[in-house]
Amino acid sequence: MGSKENGKPSRHNGFFPSLPNRSRTPPRNPPMVPLASLLAYELKNEIVENPLLRCGLALQPRKGEDFALVKTDCQRIPGDGSSTFAVFGIFDGHNGSAAAIYTKENLLNDVMSALSPGLKRDDWLAALPRALVAGFVKTDKEFQAKEQTSGTTVTFVVIDGWTITVACVGDSRCVLDSQGVVTDLTVDHRLDDNEEERERVRAAGGEVGRLSIVGGAEIGPLRVWPGGLCLSRSIGDMDVGEFIVPVPHVKQIKLSTNGGRLIIASDGVWDALTSEKAAKCCRGLLQPEVAAKHIIKETLRTRGLRDDTTCIVVDLLPPTYVEPPPPVIKKKSTIYRMFHWKQKQPPPSQPAYDEIPVMEELFEEGSAMLSERLGPGASVNGGNGMFLCAICQCDIEANDGISVHAGAFFASKSRPLDGPFLCRSCKWKQEAMEGKQPSTRGGASK
Ligand SMILES: [Zn+2]
Repeated sequence: MGSKENGKPSRHNGFFPSLPNRSRTPPRNPPMVPLASLLAYELKNEIVENPLLRCGLALQPRKGEDFALVKTDCQRIPGDGSSTFAVFGIFDGHNGSAAAIYTKENLLNDVMSALSPGLKRDDWLAALPRALVAGFVKTDKEFQAKEQTSGTTVTFVVIDGWTITVACVGDSRCVLDSQGVVTDLTVDHRLDDNEEERERVRAAGGEVGRLSIVGGAEIGPLRVWPGGLCLSRSIGDMDVGEFIVPVPHVKQIKLSTNGGRLIIASDGVWDALTSEKAAKCCRGLLQPEVAAKHIIKETLRTRGLRDDTTCIVVDLLPPTYVEPPPPVIKKKSTIYRMFHWKQKQPPPSQPAYDEIPVMEELFEEGSAMLSERLGPGASVNGGNGMFLCAICQCDIEANDGISVHAGAFFASKSRPLDGPFLCRSCKWKQEAMEGKQPSTRGGASK
């Protein structure tokens, strides 16, 4: 075997030649394997198993209220390169850009603060959906405390290995195109498209209707009053009712190792193109940035520039993927080159060999009720008999926290002793979102 006398594996015989070979009788005194080599071997295997990530961003501003987050070097465990994950986000602001900027800068930290440090990957991924709920509500609460108007949609995508977790409020969509199948990973929180949300808003005390003009005619999309917002969920928006909640729809999937393409974009794109059309129009464009630019181009061609239009394309490629050679630039027309190139290289979404399902669904939940979204593990014991508020992560005394399940004293569903627990101000927010507190806001109409 390739081991030298000092026990280190030699380099020319593969990465780890001293692993036992089943076809041979093991040596009587197998060479000692240095721990560092074992760890390196495991590390290398984990990296090989992960997809290759490629991403590109394109934007066409009009009002300057769209913001995008592309961060591919996040770490679950600071300093540990094997715990790297990536985050992508679209923040489409309205009534100003303050909420979109604040959310872009703070949301990731607020989500991370709701996850216990040092969790193993599987435990971290299992805890991520409820951490996203806590992080969204925390960001919203802290932005509203600044008493600035404006609000934002959020579509927030966390990619760790082959697991994709998407959280959204509003109508910026995330679409997966894999093996020729196009799947929405988000839902649109638009009053016009979502009956469940209309009912929730009405039950929490909001009114849903169109804008009335002189003479009684009603025009435009369905809106929530007071406020007049067309969305039922957002971050910010302190001048509308509390029933416009920041609780995200969360979906978590494990993508097949054949890979796929994510398209994350603001409604500027989705008002012009269906999910299917956006996915199809950029198939065969192997560079994500070129694909994102092409989607923007198709949007403008279809509908003109009516709104901020922002698009992120993320490709998850099999680890065996070989980069295509850079395109040869000859003096032939662009149309010729694209046609020629498309014929030679089948798009990655249509491999002929594939019988593997596109993805495995791990989690999906869209309820706006915090009692259904924050599991018992959300109130982590902070030590010294203290608990952490499941939303803002502040310390609370064990007998000062209020259960997320606590309701009116005689209510049959009230379970005041069951965790997770909230601090007083987060409990107030929970009740306000469910229409159980008189809102201090609202009244502004536009
Ligand atoms: Zn709190």
